[in-house]
Amino acid sequence: MIPRITDIINQNRTFLITAHERPDGDALGSELALYHMLTARGKTATVYNQDQTPGHYRFLPGTSVIVNELPATECFDVAFILDCSELERVGRGADQIRKIRQMINIDHHVSNGGFCEVALLDACASSTGELIYRLAESMALTLTPEMATNLYAALLTDTGGFRYGNTTRDCLLIAGRLVEAGARPQWISENIYESTPLAKIRLLAGVLETLSLDLNGKVGSMVVMQEALAKAGALPEYTDGFEDLPRTIMGVEASILFSELEADYYKLSLRSKGSFNVERVARKFGGGGHVNAAGCRIRGELSTVKRLVLAEIEALG
Ligand code: 5GP
Ligand code: MN
Repeated sequence: MIPRITDIINQNRTFLITAHERPDGDALGSELALYHMLTARGKTATVYNQDQTPGHYRFLPGTSVIVNELPATECFDVAFILDCSELERVGRGADQIRKIRQMINIDHHVSNGGFCEVALLDACASSTGELIYRLAESMALTLTPEMATNLYAALLTDTGGFRYGNTTRDCLLIAGRLVEAGARPQWISENIYESTPLAKIRLLAGVLETLSLDLNGKVGSMVVMQEALAKAGALPEYTDGFEDLPRTIMGVEASILFSELEADYYKLSLRSKGSFNVERVARKFGGGGHVNAAGCRIRGELSTVKRLVLAEIEALG
């Protein structure tokens, strides 16, 4: 599939690059690395995300080119849809983007339904960034520090700082090559993990009060209500990473972060240890993801939503 994608790159001129709503480190790092790769080849590229770049990712080289309004789709020969298991994951622009003549999907979610004919899919890849690295290699590009920094950030964040089950030999070998090409691990980690706004810590203090353990201590969960965000003066993106906390408790096998999007509508971020599969749980509610990290959205009162999810976790055993 990679030779087919490089052919399409060579034969076209204008490219749209996009990824899922509420972009994370893998989405942004992959988009921006690909942006630098295409422009290095003399192509015109536009990076579009529905949502703004979270503050702790604004140091990534190239973030200033990202637009949050979708340009007229006639402007593009090709659309790259990154880190998305379905086209709808890009958000509001999905129906417009669908009209672009040639779509290419690059993704590593187990739940990818194959919405795109030209697709570089590998559920064993640590991150979409790893797949973009493979594409860069086959394009015989010299990796610049800008590309390397973005790809390193993608690998780092999707592996939870090189800790999760997707921290494979290939992932670590590639990380080494990225450092060789100019990525600076300490600087990147400090920007992502040690530039926390004070309001985020204040928000966490409130959210920790909601911690509860269910199913004999196997499931830990926390809740972020809009009111808590307002009280702490926090942005929605500040909850990034909270979902990992209940999982760190001894005996907890799965964690859930319920984030209130609007009245009676919640985004669930699920995380698990070992072989406990939260992707199957998320899929039951129309979401998806990976074995140890998945998400979905559910409408209903919090107590009902929680009961439904716990019942599903119990049923899936
Ligand atoms: P997060 O909890 O960090 O938003 O997402 C964890 C993983 O699940 C990510 O790989 C993300 O792409 C996926 N994911 C989150 N929400 C959804 C959703 O609503 N639908 C699908 N298909 N995947 C999701
Ligand atoms: Mn990813």
